[in-house]
Amino acid sequence: MFEIIDRLVKYQDLNDEEFISLLNCTDVAAMEYLTHRAREVCDRNYGRKVYIRGLIEISSYCKNNCYYCGIRRGNAKAERYRLTKEEILDCCDHGWELGFRTFVMQGGEDNYYTDELMCEIIREIKSRYPNCAVTLSLGERGEESFKRMYDAGADRYLLRHETANTEHYSKLHPKEMSLEYRKKCLFDLRKIGYQTGCGIMVGSPYQTTENIVEDLHFMQKLKPHMIGIGPFIHHRDTPFADYPNGSVELTIKLLSILRLMFPKVLLPATTALGTKDPYGREKGILAGANVVMPNLSPVATRKKYSLYDNKICTDSEAAENLADLKKRIKAIDYEIVTDRGDSLCE
Ligand code: SAM
Repeated sequence: MFEIIDRLVKYQDLNDEEFISLLNCTDVAAMEYLTHRAREVCDRNYGRKVYIRGLIEISSYCKNNCYYCGIRRGNAKAERYRLTKEEILDCCDHGWELGFRTFVMQGGEDNYYTDELMCEIIREIKSRYPNCAVTLSLGERGEESFKRMYDAGADRYLLRHETANTEHYSKLHPKEMSLEYRKKCLFDLRKIGYQTGCGIMVGSPYQTTENIVEDLHFMQKLKPHMIGIGPFIHHRDTPFADYPNGSVELTIKLLSILRLMFPKVLLPATTALGTKDPYGREKGILAGANVVMPNLSPVATRKKYSLYDNKICTDSEAAENLADLKKRIKAIDYEIVTDRGDSLCE
């Protein structure tokens, strides 16, 4: 296994058989070596820095019905809310004071947020804070819509592809949703000029090791600037309520593999990882992740943005969460920095 890991470091690639044996490997010493090599590569590119992004969950309304997601259209128990332009700007004001230089607006696919409204919000954020970066994570929209928001000043877009395998995609999503269109959105975003992020849930229902290898190949084609991965965590009011959660170990391993395949990519240690394991985010950073996304949403709405059960950081204020996070990152000998933290990928 050690030679396979060395080959991955050297060539940033492996053949499918090697990827599969690495993904299935449980040897503790080999896994420690993998995370160590990944961390080395991350330190060489980004230093011992961890970038923070202020996450603003703008809407829990969603027109989609993804089987895994707590805010799916069909969940009658989901509490719905949407933030007004003023509420979003208040979150940014607060975030700016705390040192955030990237604002991520994420939400369900909600037609309330027309291109006009999104462009107005983006322009206002950019005019108040000319040095900040604006990231969007609003799901699938048309190429024209992506372009208008980019022209209004948006810098980055996160759209997990969820799985690169058509059959697997159809087990996670209803018929009206298509993997082909989701992939097209990602290539459109990249072409327009966004720093583009894709990603998957690790251990989503029906996922096979071969599916993950397909995901890696898709990422090689897309060449993303950011990759968001976190364990699948079931939500009690979805069709996948009784499916097992994804594994922290596999998520950590995959973070290291991604770091070695894409040395310059921005790789978050996600909230889902921190939810599944109290030290998940620290473990993710030590395995090659270099971004964390603390929640800047108003405390009153956080519990309503319930994608999966027991999501962390829904109770305390952003300032309190950030102070705690800074301490925790310092304890593993890394430092939270407040620059924009653009991707070094081309
Ligand atoms: N609507 C936008 C989209 O589709 O990209 C952004 C919001 S969506 C809720 C953000 C991400 O949450 C999804 O891409 C998915 O991977 C993740 N997610 C949803 N349900 C989840 C679950 N049960 N466990 C872990 N992650 C989940």
